[in-house]
Amino acid sequence: MSTESLARTVARDRRPAPAGPTDARRYVNQWVEREAIGSEEVSAFVLILRTRGCYWADEKGCSMCGYAKDTLGRSASPEELAEQLAHATSRYQGEPYVKVYTSGSFLDDREVDPASRQRLVEAFSGKARRLLFETLPEFAVADRLEPLRAAFSGEIEVALGLESTDPTVLGKYIHKNAPPSEYLAAGDRVRALGLRAKAYLLLKPPYLTETESVRDVVRSVREAAPHFDALSINPVHIQNGTVVEWLYRRGRYRPPWLWSVVAALREGAGLRGTSRLVSFPTAGGLPRGPHNCGECDRRVLDAIETASLRQEFGLLEELECACRHEWEVVRSLEPLGVEA
Ligand code: SF4
Ligand SMILES: [Zn+2]
Repeated sequence: MSTESLARTVARDRRPAPAGPTDARRYVNQWVEREAIGSEEVSAFVLILRTRGCYWADEKGCSMCGYAKDTLGRSASPEELAEQLAHATSRYQGEPYVKVYTSGSFLDDREVDPASRQRLVEAFSGKARRLLFETLPEFAVADRLEPLRAAFSGEIEVALGLESTDPTVLGKYIHKNAPPSEYLAAGDRVRALGLRAKAYLLLKPPYLTETESVRDVVRSVREAAPHFDALSINPVHIQNGTVVEWLYRRGRYRPPWLWSVVAALREGAGLRGTSRLVSFPTAGGLPRGPHNCGECDRRVLDAIETASLRQEFGLLEELECACRHEWEVVRSLEPLGVEA
């Protein structure tokens, strides 16, 4: 099967049937995590709203993204979104950093209508210092951002899933809807409006070797840094109903080693300019997430988190484990097409 038809088949199969009102009144998930604002470590309140989800996931979707399973299969009404928000704010404890995700784009009117966006931003205004939401680049435009900036007392941070600055990697391997140049331009637009811009960079998309993926993400750090205030390296974890899962089940994909995350942070640290560079791996240490040998995973993950929070990448130089040699052997055999 070609990668094109594989992507479209996987996208069709994972699309949910339209949900009833009970599901639409409940957000997908909410938790609190460690974060930093400047040099200060703070708590972040993370909220995943249940919306119709990403329009691109219906058409083709990205090869590693399974968020469509958390969506409604239809747009949520303003009343349903208001219930989700009321439930979320009842759990909010004044965390300084608030992150809102929708399994798509917060700024897409089909997912969150403009009045609901406004209500959400107002709900956290005067309470949170920084509010982050994620969007595709085509929606990061002045007429959608300016009313939100005006409604929020603190700092708004717009996150964009750039993933890679290489057009082939982004278009052919990750299957994003737009070329990297549109993401970089969106970062510039966001900053010109006085807001913070953050980019997610993907470590180890399908069809790249471990070595190629580190090289790709390091180059992306260098090329994206002038356009963003923060860069987050996200190593792939295998989500249900994705091209990556299809390959994984057939033994044709291994999630990245944590040593690759360490290498990417160490190399990227010298290329990030004034941008923050972080990585908070999802499903770290699990078979379907970025992992090492199992013995050292917790220690390496803790070091990655601390280095990210403090922006002290020298911490990563002290890490050692016998499996580091195995990772190096894997990388040395990759050019020969041999799997260790
Ligand atoms: S990664 Fe983003 S753009 Fe791609 S399908 Fe998922 S939500 Fe949509
Ligand atoms: Zn190890």
